[in-house]
Amino acid sequence: MDKIFTKCGRCGKIINYGNGYVSIVRNVEQADFSIVTNNDEITIIDSQEIITLCGSCGNSFNTDTIGQIINTIPTDNSNININ
Ligand SMILES: [Zn+2]
Repeated sequence: MDKIFTKCGRCGKIINYGNGYVSIVRNVEQADFSIVTNNDEITIIDSQEIITLCGSCGNSFNTDTIGQIINTIPTDNSNININ
């Protein structure tokens, strides 16, 4: 019997251990250049999961569209209605 890992944050489908899934995260990163390896080295300072999606939901999104939506979100809470 499969063991449950989590549920899809969009459709609620069970995601079992061993299943592929899509995770959208917010990472705070720092980039450095290593002269030893001649490559960029990225350090993840903090990582926060935004949503976990089943393969069906996660793969139905166009990543360019997600970027465009994020660019439309105000950063000053001006879109929050206070009743
Ligand atoms: Zn789903």
